[in-house]
Amino acid sequence: MGGYVRREYPQWSWSFSRHQTLAGCPRRYYYNYYGSHNGWESTASAEAALAYRLKKLTNLYLVLGDALHKSAHQMVERVMEGRTLPDADVIEEEIRRHLRRVWKSSRDDGDLFVRRPNRVDMLQEFYYQMEVSDATLARINERITQVSRALVASTIWEELSRGGGTLVSAEQFDTFTIDETPVFAVPDLLYRTVDGTWRIVDWKTGEEVEDNRDQVALYALYVHNKHSVPAEKIEARLEYLSLQTFTEMRFTQDDLADVESRARESIETMRELLIDAAENIPKSKENFTLTEERGLCPWCNFYELCQKELERSVS
Ligand code: SF4
Repeated sequence: MGGYVRREYPQWSWSFSRHQTLAGCPRRYYYNYYGSHNGWESTASAEAALAYRLKKLTNLYLVLGDALHKSAHQMVERVMEGRTLPDADVIEEEIRRHLRRVWKSSRDDGDLFVRRPNRVDMLQEFYYQMEVSDATLARINERITQVSRALVASTIWEELSRGGGTLVSAEQFDTFTIDETPVFAVPDLLYRTVDGTWRIVDWKTGEEVEDNRDQVALYALYVHNKHSVPAEKIEARLEYLSLQTFTEMRFTQDDLADVESRARESIETMRELLIDAAENIPKSKENFTLTEERGLCPWCNFYELCQKELERSVS
């Protein structure tokens, strides 16, 4: 691993998904951001190795989302190179191929996943031997068709291909700083239109939830801080592909100040769970409580680590 520098504790940073993880379950947050750290090392403790393995699990909906984003990224490249775009059937087949590959590795490579979890795609459904119902498969199949068609039909391709858009970034990891904390922002697509608007596009393959608006509002703050763009020149477009709808958002300076203040509060909450903020050393695991929403636990990656404690807490 070129350039790998071993760290006793993970590097400190903040992201919207980190905030969501802590809000959903503090223990999940602990395993995801601390307990799994260095779990890839041959000398790792059994718990760290297991947490690292479980962190690598995926599920059918995430795989569908990843495949869609991969296809969307390729479409951005094609349109910027002036090439013709594939039709929806081609996108649909790409997504199906990706899902079939992950399904096959999950079914056939369980032993390898246990030994080398970073080498194998593993669906949670196979790892935990959960039955995938016909209804779930039908829903996934239907969603593949819907998202492929909606992606190809998006009006952003016309705006970009008319030569009216200047690409700034596509799924590019970047950070900006709030309170000396690196904040991750990875908009699916960011471009400037001819009238000087900076447009953020985010493709969603799932339902419409409030968190999505908060997430793109954070991207707007990133554009404002990193690229010095006035709030009123930023526009975000959330494309709900499986619903064939989209939401457009505009921002004021006050909106962005609110976003920043909420991020600050979240950073502060996370820091309270550390014994050493400079080194990012967490308090002991017991300080990271199990969620009260126990109904969600069987669908959580880390269920294997929590199962005994969950059973004790109900007996
Ligand atoms: S299994 Fe439940 S309690 Fe444990 S990390 Fe997951 S959501 Fe939290």
